[in-house]
Amino acid sequence: MKGKTVNSSRVPVYRDAGFELYNADTTKEAFTRETENERIPELYIYSRYRNPTVIAAEEEIMKLEASSWALLTQSGMSAIDTAVSVFQRGDSTGPWLFFSEIYGGTISFIDLVLKKRRGLQVHSFNPVNERYDPDELEKIISKIKPEVIYIEVISNPMLIVTDLENVTELAQRFGSKVIVDNTFATPLLCKPLEEGAHLVVHSATKYFSGHGNITAGVLCGNDPALMKSAIEYRKLIGHMISPDDAYRLNTQVQTFELRFRQQCRNAERVVEILKGHPCIRKTWFPGLQEHATHNEAVKLFGNRGFGAMVTFDFAGNTENEKKSRRDIFISAVSERIKIIPSLGDPKTILMPVESVWGAKYPEPGMIRLSVGFEDYTLLEDTIQEALDKTI
Ligand code: PLP
Repeated sequence: MKGKTVNSSRVPVYRDAGFELYNADTTKEAFTRETENERIPELYIYSRYRNPTVIAAEEEIMKLEASSWALLTQSGMSAIDTAVSVFQRGDSTGPWLFFSEIYGGTISFIDLVLKKRRGLQVHSFNPVNERYDPDELEKIISKIKPEVIYIEVISNPMLIVTDLENVTELAQRFGSKVIVDNTFATPLLCKPLEEGAHLVVHSATKYFSGHGNITAGVLCGNDPALMKSAIEYRKLIGHMISPDDAYRLNTQVQTFELRFRQQCRNAERVVEILKGHPCIRKTWFPGLQEHATHNEAVKLFGNRGFGAMVTFDFAGNTENEKKSRRDIFISAVSERIKIIPSLGDPKTILMPVESVWGAKYPEPGMIRLSVGFEDYTLLEDTIQEALDKTI
């Protein structure tokens, strides 16, 4: 083979750990420019710092989130760690405010890393009747004046939608920075940077990769100073995604909008089946008028959809009756709908809520569905038949 490049239309997988720097002058130039933290260097140095395959995938995600930059990491948790790191200033870091209805792993990260190991002063903001009260939010923000506010657009498993406009307006008034985990809503429903957020994180393991076969995270923003700080942290901690995962993510993210649209549509139709069934006590879905944050969802998402997560609860006079209906349902769907502790997969998957959240959501009949983009008629038959077995 003569050249290093061929007429491929894609950026290939560059697996080089270290790149060739030719001579002492170009080596010096590469390292000097690296310390300036440029996102796209002409000379790559080392794949933990920056990698062309990773940059190609980042450019696709920048388009989706309409951000000036995006940085891929090897998991959603490492994207969250990188996001929070840019606002930490050792002992002089002020108080932060985390909304309480966020991913359980993030809550453990707050308790065991941010508080216990890094000594951060963290406050929590709880919903009342499954909705964040704007007056209470104003009270707590004006009282503690948090340096950072951390939210999820759609929470898990109650699917509480945060009034993002209200949060960013209060943040601006009180000088707080806003980090948004947009994993559940995705940029198809909402682009937090356009709403005034400072950083957006995703578990790209979910809808961006969309096939349950990549663990990845991404951090997006517009401020170049935050980007510099995030690149520095990713490089020094080693949160960089691998070139192989970045390449596959770049391929899979091309179909993200198509997949997610179908997932949202399927979810709306699944909700109709659940709502009409006598053995279902309650269905949680932001698209339902009776959902506590339906108004917030309509305000933020318009007519673009309400996400592809659906939570529901079996009726029963006793705990045992609810539990038994849940178990009959899980067993009846098990050929087509598996228990998989993730979301955003091609096929619908489920989680029994009490088994995971325990004391926080102790209702034994509760199930969380991550609705897939499979053919709807198949999904309808599977769910309808399983529900009928619970009568
Ligand atoms: N954020 C949300 C909303 C999640 O649901 C998850 C994982 O389930 C994460 C972040 C963490 O992502 P990862 O598992 O890719 O580290």
